[in-house]
Amino acid sequence: MSDDCLFCKIVNREIPSEFLYEDEDYVVFRDINPAAPVHLLLVPKRHIRSINDLESGHESLVGGLFPLAADMAKKEGVNESGYKLLFNVEKGGGQEIFHLHLHLIGGWRKK
Ligand code: AMP
Ligand code: ZN
Repeated sequence: MSDDCLFCKIVNREIPSEFLYEDEDYVVFRDINPAAPVHLLLVPKRHIRSINDLESGHESLVGGLFPLAADMAKKEGVNESGYKLLFNVEKGGGQEIFHLHLHLIGGWRKK
């Protein structure tokens, strides 16, 4: 838990948010400013600032985001149409919330 971290506050339910999924390690909720019809944030509960801050011992926590993403894509109905998975890393990489999270973005209309 980091005191000034928005996502820690969401994880700890100090700021209300509707979780699409929760277990002991992760929460998933919709991005407040979606970049596509489906835009989820997959967030480890543990406060890790960014991909740059991974340490040995974090592998399974970060690795677990990928099967969770596949499950959430299926629940949202975008597994077959396709989606993007994105980590923004630090300010130059577009990161605004410095609590590690994976964006799942999809649901564009098929052309
Ligand atoms: P990033 O730029 O990778 O740090 O992504 C942070 C994301 O969090 C942005 O896409 C924001 O729209 C989103 N966001 C900020 N505040 C909230 C919130 N209270 N609930 C849901 N998503 C949020
Ligand atoms: Zn945090």
